[in-house]
Amino acid sequence: ESRSLGRLRDLPAETLDGCRVRLLANLELPGEVEPSLAAGAEGVGLLRTEFLFMNRDDLPDEDEQAAILTAVVKGMAGRPVTVRTLDVGGEKLATALGAHLGESANPALGLRAIRLSLRVPELLEAQLAAILRAGAHGPVRMLLPMVASVEEVRAVRVILQKVVARLRRRGVAIADPLPPLGAMIEIPGAALAADALIREVDFFAIGTNDLIMYTLAIDRGDERVAHLYDPLHPAVLRLIHFAADAALRAGKPVSVCGEMAGDPRFAGLFVGWGIRELSMRAPAIPQVKRRLRAMDSGGAGRLVATAMLESDRAAVSRLLEAFEQAEA
Ligand code: PEP
Ligand code: MG
Repeated sequence: ESRSLGRLRDLPAETLDGCRVRLLANLELPGEVEPSLAAGAEGVGLLRTEFLFMNRDDLPDEDEQAAILTAVVKGMAGRPVTVRTLDVGGEKLATALGAHLGESANPALGLRAIRLSLRVPELLEAQLAAILRAGAHGPVRMLLPMVASVEEVRAVRVILQKVVARLRRRGVAIADPLPPLGAMIEIPGAALAADALIREVDFFAIGTNDLIMYTLAIDRGDERVAHLYDPLHPAVLRLIHFAADAALRAGKPVSVCGEMAGDPRFAGLFVGWGIRELSMRAPAIPQVKRRLRAMDSGGAGRLVATAMLESDRAAVSRLLEAFEQAEA
């Protein structure tokens, strides 16, 4: 079993009818670069930068962040690295930012992620500068967490221009051309406004972990309601479909990077929706690849057409199981 998964590493992630899907890794630490390559990652679809801020009392400066990101970019050897700006707040806390974060009665709805970055622009400036500098050593993409509205993206672009101008004045080598700027789709309102949002960004990364939580109003930490956390809820499926479709119609890349992306049971849905990039925990890459290599993209298209008409998760689950068996 694990030997055959190992051999999969050098085979392409494509369906029986030749539909190519790019499988990328979610990274939480720079040390995960090697294992992700060993698992067959074609790049990094989500580099969570929270590690830079954890277990310390001070903030990392631009140079320190640039050095660490550059090492990751070099480690990925020409494969794309998608760097997400800081996503603290909510349940994720960083000591040095405590004064900025303060207390919130509803942390999940409070000052976090891109909201914090726009409130403390020095933080965002240092991060963007570090990503641009790392981009001189290989392809990078900039990703903004918890985007709710186009105004946030526009505000980031203003700051980005300032950062680029400053780096050029300093004569520092940066990515050229400038890297794509993308938004995480993990707030239901952002998913519903995806057709507007896609005009302001270069790509989407759909974060199903938060999207499910906010759509169904489920705190997964609360075990009394955890069983209601449901990736196959019709509302979740509709939001993912709508957001992906908005990006595809605009001719822009869209990936999925929440836990759902690494679950082979859902691969047929993503292929059927036209999603061609999935980013996941590296150990999940071989099993998703194996699933993709056993399916037909036309069948996946028919699967989603039927699945989207169902009204509950049990019915969708049965369709997914029947699809897997028919293809196997
Ligand atoms: C998500 O919400 O799906 C996601 C990928 O981001 P994180 O898990 O870091 O919140
Ligand atoms: Mg998230």
